[in-house]
Amino acid sequence: MRPELLNPLFAPVTSIPGIGPKLDKLLRFLLGRSETPRIADLLLHLPVSVIDRRERPKIRDAAPGTMVTLEVTVDRHRPAPGGRSRAPHLVYVSDDTGAAVLAYFKAYPGQVEKLLPVGEKRFISGTGQLFDGILQIVHPDRVIDEEGFAKLSGIDPVYPLTQGLAIGALRRAVGLALTRLPALPEWISPEVMRRCSFPPIAEALNRVHVPVELTDILPEGPFWSRLAFDELLAGQLALALVRAQLRRPAGDRNAGDGQLRRLIIDALPYSLTNSQQEAVKAIAGDLTQPVRMLRLLQGDVGSGKTVVALLAAAAVAEVGRQTALMAPTEILARQHIKTITPLAERAGLRVAILTGREKGRERKDILARLAAGEIDMLVGTHALIQDDVEFKELALAVVDEQHRFGVRERLALTNKGDAVDVLVLSATPIPRTLVLTYFGDMDVSELREKPAGRQPIETRTLSASRLTEVIDGIGRAVGAGKLIYWIVPLVEESEMDGPKLTNAEERFESLRERFGDKVGLVHGRMRGTEKDLAMARFAAAETQILVATTVVEVGVDVPAATIMVIENAERFGLAQLHQLRGRIGRGSEASNCLLLYREPLGEIAAKRLKVIKETTDGFRIAEEDLKLRGEGDVLGTRQSGLPGFRIARPDVHAQLITQARDEAMRILQDDPKLKGERGEALRCLLYLYERDEALPLIGAG
Ligand code: ADP
Ligand code: MG
Repeated sequence: MRPELLNPLFAPVTSIPGIGPKLDKLLRFLLGRSETPRIADLLLHLPVSVIDRRERPKIRDAAPGTMVTLEVTVDRHRPAPGGRSRAPHLVYVSDDTGAAVLAYFKAYPGQVEKLLPVGEKRFISGTGQLFDGILQIVHPDRVIDEEGFAKLSGIDPVYPLTQGLAIGALRRAVGLALTRLPALPEWISPEVMRRCSFPPIAEALNRVHVPVELTDILPEGPFWSRLAFDELLAGQLALALVRAQLRRPAGDRNAGDGQLRRLIIDALPYSLTNSQQEAVKAIAGDLTQPVRMLRLLQGDVGSGKTVVALLAAAAVAEVGRQTALMAPTEILARQHIKTITPLAERAGLRVAILTGREKGRERKDILARLAAGEIDMLVGTHALIQDDVEFKELALAVVDEQHRFGVRERLALTNKGDAVDVLVLSATPIPRTLVLTYFGDMDVSELREKPAGRQPIETRTLSASRLTEVIDGIGRAVGAGKLIYWIVPLVEESEMDGPKLTNAEERFESLRERFGDKVGLVHGRMRGTEKDLAMARFAAAETQILVATTVVEVGVDVPAATIMVIENAERFGLAQLHQLRGRIGRGSEASNCLLLYREPLGEIAAKRLKVIKETTDGFRIAEEDLKLRGEGDVLGTRQSGLPGFRIARPDVHAQLITQARDEAMRILQDDPKLKGERGEALRCLLYLYERDEALPLIGAG
C-alpha cells in the first residue's frame, strides 16, 4: 500500500485550480503519460534553462533574437482592424532610448488594453525581432506591473514545452504543485547526504523550480543532482529487490548432457563465431549453477543472438523443461520463430508461437500443449504473460529487447515457473554504466564479432534538397532488382502544424506515382496481418521499395535488402539510426545507406550523422551516443535523453549511478524487507518514482 503521506503528490494535476481538460491533454503529452499526470510528474519536470530578468537593457540596446526584459511605458494601442482577424493587436511602448511594438494575435477585445493600460509602466519579457527597423515582441512571455516585478526573484525557469502549452501556464501549475509538497522523510543515508552535499528533497525541488541563482538549475549542481540520485536510487533499489528474489536453492540443474545442442549445432548452415561459442558456454555454466541465471546477451543487430537463445532453450529441453522467448513486437516474434523452427526441428525441439493473433481454438490448443509439456519453446509477445498461459515446467525466460519491458512484465513471465533462469537479449550495445542503470548487476556476454561473410555498408549523408536525384538513383536500383528500405520518422500528431515532416503514407503515395506496385508500406498503426503481408511481399521481392516507420527498427531480417534511405535522419537518435541501418548488409552483397537531412542541420544532429557515417561499430556508437545525449532533439527521448529516466542524465550523473548501486546494496544488506523507519522512507521513494513493482515481493513494511 502506498504511504498516505504521498497522496497529495499522487493527486491528478487537474486538482490544481485552472488545470482543465485542455491543459490535462497537453500535460499528458508533455510528460509522456497515458493518463492524467500526477502532481509529482509536474514537480519532476525540470527546467532546461532560466531567463535572467535582472538583466534589463534599454530598448536601444536590446539584441534581437535574445530574451530580454524591458521596462517601458505604454504609449498607445492599435487593435486589430475589424474583419481582418489575422492582423495582430499592436501596442506601442517606449523608454527614454526608443520605441518598441508588442504584437498580440487573436486577442479578445479589451484584453490587451487591460493588461497594458496607456500611460502606465510595465515590465515586459520576451524575445524581440527587428521589424521595419523597430524592435517587435510577439506575445511577450510576461507582462508585469511594478509591484509584481518587485516580488519576483528575477530568474524564471524555462521548461521544455509542447505545442499549444504556454510557458506561463506551466510555471503557474508548477508553482501551485510546489505548495502541495508534503514533508517527506529523508531516504538517503546521512553519509551520502554529507559526502555528496545533497540538500533535502523539498529544498532541491523548490530551488530548481524557483531558482535563486542562475546555477541552481544546472544538472551537475546540488539540487538537480539530489533529484537525479533519488531517481537512480529508486531504480537500483527496485532492481536489487528483484534480484534478491532470484536466488534459488541449490540442486536444480537446468542443462542436460548437451545432446540436443549438438544436434542443432551440427545442423547449422554456418559455424558459430567465437563470441557466440563463448556466450553459449557461459549460459550453459549459469544454467547449472545453484543460483538463478541473470545474464545479458548484448550484440549488434545481426550478430546472431537468436541462435544463442535457441541453444540455451535446447540445454533446458535436455532436462525436459521449457523456455519462453518474449519479444516486444509481433514482427519480431515471427522473425524469431522463422529462424528457430527449421533448426529446432532438426533436433526434435518442439516450438510454437503465441501472440495476440492466435485466438480461439488455435490458442486453446497451444495452451493445452504447453501445459502438457508438449511444447519445449514458446515464442511470443506480451501475450505470453496473460494469466491463463501455464507452462508445465518453465525453466528459462528469454526476454528480447528488454529495455522495452518493465520489471512488472519480466516478473510476470518469470513467475510462471519456479526459480526461472533469465536471459536478456539486447541489440543496443550499452556502455557498462548504463547496463547498471537498466539491468542492475547482471552478468554480461557480448557478441562483438560479426558473423563471417557480412558485407560492408557504405553510408552517405545528403541534403533533402537533393531528393529528386535520390529518387532517380532509386529508380536505377529498382531496375537492377534491388530491395530498398525507405524509412521516415514517426510524426506525432502534435507536430502536425509544426515544420513540415514527411509522413509514411505521403511518401508511399509519392513513390507509388513513380514506381507503382513496386512500393509497399508498413507502419505501426497497421494491423498485424497487414504488416506481415507487407513484410512478406517485400521479402519475396514482390515489392522492391518498402516505405516504413521505425517498426522495422528491431530484428526484421530481409537479407536481400541492400539499400536504405532514411528521411529526416536528423530526427533520429544514434542508437536508432544504427539499429535501422542494421537491417541492411545482412546478405551476400555490399549495401548502401543514404541519410537525408533537412537543412539547417543543428550542431548535435550534424555530429550524430558524422558518427553514423564513420562507423558501424555498435559499441563505439553507443559511447558517442552517451556523449551527445541530453540535447533533447532526438525522436522518442525526453529531456533526460535516457529512456525511462526523466532527471538523471548519463553524461552528467554517471558517477551517481555507481553510488546509487552501492547504496541500494547496503540498504538491502541492513534491511532486506525495508521494515525500519528508513525502510518506510525508501518505500516512499519507490512509489514516488513508480518503482514499486518489486514491493509486493517483500510484503508490507
Ligand atoms: P540478431 O538477433 O543478433 O540481430 P540474428 O540472430 O537474427 O541476429 O541473426 C542474423 C542472421 O545471421 C540470421 O539470418 C542468422 O541465421 C545468421 N547467423 C547467426 N549466426 C551466424 C554465424 N555464426 N555465421 C553466419 N550467419 C549467422
Ligand atoms: Mg534478433
